[in-house]
Amino acid sequence: MENISYANLTAEQTLNAADQSPQFLDIFHQHTAESYSLAIDQAKEMVLKFLENQQKPFSGITPLQLGEQFNKIEFDVPLASYDELFKEVQGLYVDHATAFHLPNYIAHLNCPVVIPALAAEVLISAINSSQDTWDQSAGGTLIERRLIHWTAHQIGFGDRADGVFTGGGSQSNLMGLLLARDCFALNRLNHNIKVDGNPPEASRFRVFVSDKSHFSNQKNASLLGLGEQGVMQVETDSRFKMKSDALEEAILNELELGNIPFAIVATAGTTDFGNVDPLEAISALAAKYKLWMHVDAAYGCGLLLTDQHKYLLKGIEKADSVTIDYHKSFFQPISSSAFIVRDKNSLEIIRHHADYLNPKEQDYEEYPAQINKSITQSTRRFDALKLWFTLRLLGREKLGEYMDAIISTAKEAADLINRDPELELLSESDISVLVFRYRSLKLKHVDLCALNQYIKKKMFHTGEVLVASTKVNGSFYLKFTIFNPITTVNDIKNILGIIKTYGAAYPEQ
Ligand SMILES: *Cc1c(COP(=O)(O)O)cnc(C)c1O
Repeated sequence: MENISYANLTAEQTLNAADQSPQFLDIFHQHTAESYSLAIDQAKEMVLKFLENQQKPFSGITPLQLGEQFNKIEFDVPLASYDELFKEVQGLYVDHATAFHLPNYIAHLNCPVVIPALAAEVLISAINSSQDTWDQSAGGTLIERRLIHWTAHQIGFGDRADGVFTGGGSQSNLMGLLLARDCFALNRLNHNIKVDGNPPEASRFRVFVSDKSHFSNQKNASLLGLGEQGVMQVETDSRFKMKSDALEEAILNELELGNIPFAIVATAGTTDFGNVDPLEAISALAAKYKLWMHVDAAYGCGLLLTDQHKYLLKGIEKADSVTIDYHKSFFQPISSSAFIVRDKNSLEIIRHHADYLNPKEQDYEEYPAQINKSITQSTRRFDALKLWFTLRLLGREKLGEYMDAIISTAKEAADLINRDPELELLSESDISVLVFRYRSLKLKHVDLCALNQYIKKKMFHTGEVLVASTKVNGSFYLKFTIFNPITTVNDIKNILGIIKTYGAAYPEQ
């Protein structure tokens, strides 16, 4: 009999299972509970081993070394058991997976995750609800809606707010720009882009972002047919926050050129510096020039959770739309994000009816369907359950404390760097990113970019600590993204020590 796998079942279990349902033993159904349970137990064991074994954030393996292991695999010959499968995956993946939970991982915006969300993942994947319509996810629809409204309330939006879970911040930013463009064309040019496509003047549409905003803005502008040329990068100040006077100048300049400003994207927590653009001043300009204001709070959204630091987002409540990445500062497993609008009417613009799924005649007050608000996904994971588990068990305050801890560690780390003559900090951070470089006190004419690249490379290949890097005005800098509440100032001291040791060992050129 083909298509049957008795892998890792005992003889007795095999007989039982075969008795009840002689076929399809690998499909999750009412007669395969035991098989499911054994597989999940083994997966859990593998996770526990990962926690136990992973002593450093990264093994340091190269693509060449790992690639060799892949070459040996006869992909079209299935393995005989879960034991073999887990063993293979351990070598190919788990042993070299970046361990975001370790305090020495301070590279990118990857958070450690909270345990209740991991429990929710087990339900999400097995029950496999799809968040498009009521008949595919009844409780799931209401859970998602409740969380969207809760988030909107944290932002300071009123009862007219609405939104949807998305696959990530880039996708939420796309929705923001799309609604901004389409509402502008509809209300001001009497042109329906959804139906008729971009109007001829779309090549003159302009959106304003800071020169430290996320690159997804450029990608999204191209996707929307506006071209990257439609994105105006506004100058930033010494903390790399958008200068509001430069923003007004840029708007006036584009108007003078005969171009058509329609939106501003403010960044609440830049990826490179963790700083928040001046939201109040930007909202005043958005109102003055009748522009859509989108706030990209993919990183900074966690500030909503803490009464101590929420003031940093003052003005966010005046936005038309907001990007939230729960998989960043809400400590959720990937993916978990949302797009929230101040006025749910604007979402009507993307609604599209399919007779088989969400017919026009249905009353969506009575039978809500999240698909009406989703642009790029029909079948969609029930990611909202993770956040539900988290908030119901831990609550907002606990998550907020994690955020406070991160901010406090970053402040102390900034002080350490500032006090050290061998280190040079480029900017303080509202949240938790520090961009800095090592400078040699003994090598006077050394190329600082090459020196810091050398340090980064050394650290990457030993894998003991993982830090990131970035370029500012053409120069190479090291970058800490402190995103783990269990990372302590001592961990930071230790990492800075390693950086200085490599720096001091830099061979004189
Ligand atoms: C991470 C990030 C994004 C992109 O979010 P994804 O979830 O990675 O798609 C957008 N904007 C900012 C400011 C970010 O930090």
